[in-house]
This record gives sequence, C-alpha cells and structure tokens, in this order.
Amino acid sequence: MGRKSREKKRKKGIFIPQTIAGWLRNIGSMGGDLAFNEALSFYLDTKGDIIRQMRCFSPDELVWQTWMNIDKFISEDVQLKEKKCGKGCFHCCCMYAHVFDTEADTIMKYCLEKGIEIDPEALKSHIGKTEEDYIGSCNNRCVFLADDNSCRIYEARPGKCRLHMVATEPKMCALDESRTVGKLICINAEFVMAAFVELSYGTLDSSKQAGGNLADMLLARLTSKPPKAF
Ligand code: SF4
Ligand code: SF4
Repeated sequence: MGRKSREKKRKKGIFIPQTIAGWLRNIGSMGGDLAFNEALSFYLDTKGDIIRQMRCFSPDELVWQTWMNIDKFISEDVQLKEKKCGKGCFHCCCMYAHVFDTEADTIMKYCLEKGIEIDPEALKSHIGKTEEDYIGSCNNRCVFLADDNSCRIYEARPGKCRLHMVATEPKMCALDESRTVGKLICINAEFVMAAFVELSYGTLDSSKQAGGNLADMLLARLTSKPPKAF
C-alpha cells in the first residue's frame, strides 16, 4: 500500500494529530507499510491505555495529569539530549500560543490561587491576530512572560508550550520559527496530548474542539460575568 492509500485509509474515521501523522509518515518512508502499520497500532494502543488510565479524572485533574505526564515523558526521553531550550529563553513565548478550554480554566484557577495577576490590556493587544502575525516578531509577548523572560505560570503552562522544543540555537527561534528551527518531538508526550484531547472532546477532529489563542481564551474568562445567585 502506498502513502496515498495509507492516508486514504486513515481518513476513513481515524483522526490523527499533525505531529503524530508526520512521525508515522517518516516511519512509513523509511520502513515501508509494515513499519507504518506497526507504528500506527503502537500509537492507537498506547493512546487507548492512557485514555483508560485517565478517564475517571475530573476536567481539572485531567489537565494536571496530562501536563505532568508530558513533562515526565520529556524528562525521560534520551533522544531529547540535543534540546537547546532553557530558562529565560523566550522567543517561542512571542509566538501564537494555543490552549484548550479546560486548560484555560485550570490556568485561571491557578492564577487565582497563586495571586498571579493577568493584565487585561496586555491580553487585548493580542486580539484579532492570526498565527502568521506572530512569526518573526518579538512584539507579541505572552502575558505570562516576566521581565526576566521566565514564565510566570511555568508549573501551569499549556501542553503546547511543554511540547515545543528545538535542537537549533535559541537565536534561530527569533528569525523564522516555521522554516529555520529544528523541532524536536517526544512522541510519547504527543500521545498523552492526543489522549487528553480525545478524552476532553470525544474526537481528535480539530474542528470539533474548543480552544484557541491563549490571550483570547483568558480574556473571555476574565470578562465573563459570574452567573446570578438565586
Ligand atoms: S523553542 Fe527556542 S526560544 Fe523557545 S525555549 Fe526553545 S530554544 Fe528557546
Ligand atoms: S504560558 Fe509561559 S511558556 Fe507558554 S507562551 Fe506564555 S510565557 Fe511562554
């Protein structure tokens, strides 16, 4: 079966996140159909196991468990030894930051508990910006990026922030994130994220998920009025 047939078969009902689809394509191009099918089964089995382990959690617990599992797999992955990311390295924190709605709820709760202020004006400066607007510019700092370029919610940063890693020099991230950097992938951590999304939304079809720009999601929560008490 060629690549097109595999893609066709996959599209018959199995939604696969972009990063995992890329990983599968790589395996298929190096090892052929057998390797592709084995990797696909490994992904589906592993995701199924993670879903079984995490299905009894509340939405807030699920978010924390997902974040902790992502960190665990990244710290254990020996193939990530080339990682150049470190504290105070901030160019990726001026990029479009995607967050799922339950993650946004957990972040809001965390900020409230820890007394972390969120500046609504800083959030508003991101409104209406597309992913392209963030590329190659450091003018769109995340609202949680501190003056010393550390993350003010490091413990509660979104899954996408945790999964973003590169093997190239940090200064390359400032130039053109999409074309020049060497992205690193921790495939087990990607499986955890896929399991989280499927548990949260019942599907990996991105058109059916609730999420968006971190700033938009937080502003919506900051400005929404609490329901009236009876
Ligand atoms: S992705 Fe780039 S800017 Fe972000 S922490 Fe890693 S090296 Fe630094
Ligand atoms: S939440 Fe933290 S890690 Fe994520 S973009 Fe903002 S400052 Fe960076």
